[in-house]
Amino acid sequence: MAFDWLETQLSERAEQGYLRQRKCQQYEKDNIICINDAHYLNFSSNDYLGMRHHEGVLQAWVEGLAQFGAGSGASPLVTGHTQAHLALETYLADALDREAVLLFNSGFSANQAICQALFAQGGDILADRLMHASFLDGASSSKAQLRRFKHNDIKHLASLFEKVKSQDCLVATEGVFSMDGDSAPVREIADITSTNKGWLMLDDAHGFGVLGEHGLGTAELHNLSQSDVPILMGTFGKAIGTGGAFIAGSQTLIDYLVNYARHYIYSTAMPPSQAVATLFSISHVVNNGDGRAKLHENIADFRDRFSALIGQASESDLYLADSHSAIQPVIVGTPEKALALSEALAQRGIWVPAIRYPTVPKGEDRLRITLSATHTSKDIEVLVDAIGLSLEEVVK
Ligand SMILES: *Cc1c(COP(=O)(O)O)cnc(C)c1O
Repeated sequence: MAFDWLETQLSERAEQGYLRQRKCQQYEKDNIICINDAHYLNFSSNDYLGMRHHEGVLQAWVEGLAQFGAGSGASPLVTGHTQAHLALETYLADALDREAVLLFNSGFSANQAICQALFAQGGDILADRLMHASFLDGASSSKAQLRRFKHNDIKHLASLFEKVKSQDCLVATEGVFSMDGDSAPVREIADITSTNKGWLMLDDAHGFGVLGEHGLGTAELHNLSQSDVPILMGTFGKAIGTGGAFIAGSQTLIDYLVNYARHYIYSTAMPPSQAVATLFSISHVVNNGDGRAKLHENIADFRDRFSALIGQASESDLYLADSHSAIQPVIVGTPEKALALSEALAQRGIWVPAIRYPTVPKGEDRLRITLSATHTSKDIEVLVDAIGLSLEEVVK
C-alpha cells in the first residue's frame, strides 16, 4: 500500500514517548493561556516583551489595514512590495547600520533562502551544530558542503576551516540559541571567519528586540559591523510580537537575493499592515528600554529562586542550563520525565512545555521555560514553587 509507513512511523514515535500533538489555545493574554477551557500561567511564549498585545502595535496594524487592505495581493516582484515594506526595510537598515534589508514572511524561509540562493553552485557552510532546523535543512538541501562544528567551539571551527575547499565559505551561528538560551562567542567567531576570508551569518531570532542598548540584538551588543557579520538575520515573531523576518547586509547581497532567492520571489509579500505594525513595534522597542530591563530582572530573579530550590533538592540529575536569556531550560534527561513534569506543572496551573528529542539531542529532554517582561515577581515565585512540588511528585 502506498505510504503505509506513515502509520508505522507515528506508532514508533508514540512508543518512544516522542509523539507530538498540538494543543489548541483559546486565548492568551496577560500571561494567562486558556487551553481546553482551563487557564494556566504561561511560561512558553517567545513574546519576551509583551508586544503582541501592545496597544500601539494593534492600532498601527488597524491603520495599516485601512490604508493597504488585508493582504499584499502579489509577490514582491510583481506588485506586492509597498511603501509599508520599504519603510520597514529602510528603518532597519538605518538602525542596524547596514546598506540594505530584505523582508521575508518567516525566519524559516529567510534561512532557507540564504542557503539555497548563495549555494546553488556549491561552496562550504560551517554551522554550529545547534543551529535552528530551518538553517540546517536549508544548508543540507543546498549544493554546499555542510560541516557542523561543536556548539560554540572555536577550536573545532578553526579545524574545520582547513577542510574548506571552495572560495565561498559561510559560517553560521545564532545570537541566542533557541533551545539552550545560551549565546555564541560571536566576536571571536567573526574574527576567525574574516581571517579565513569567509562570511559570517548570524541568526538573531532570539536576540533581536532583547539584547543591546536599543534592543537591536547581538550585533548591537557586540558592536558587530556589516563587515563582521555580512549576513544578519532576525525575526519579528518573537520579541517584536508580530511575524516575519529580515535579512540585512550589503546592497549587493540584497540585490542578489531579490533576483535569486526563490523563497522571496515566489511567495506573496507579507501583508503591508503587518509591516506597519512591525515597524511600530520595533521603533517602540528601540526607544523604550523598560521592557528589556524588566525582562533581565525577571531572568535573574528566576535563576536565583531556582538555584535555591535545587540547592535543597535530593534529585540532582536535573539541572538548569547556563543561560542568561529569556530561555531557561531545565534539563531532565528523559522524554517521560519531561512530559510528566510538564503535566504536573499544568495540574498546578502552570504552562511549561516539554521539549524532547528530536528537537533537542537524545538525553537532553527538558522543560523549556520562557520568561517575559510581563511576568511579575509573584508569577516567578509561583512557578518555582510549583516546580519544587512537581519534582517531589514525579520523582517519587
Ligand atoms: C523561530 C526561529 C526561526 C524561524 O523563524 P520564524 O519566523 O518563526 O519562521 C529561525 N531561527 C531561529 C533561531 C528561531 O528561533
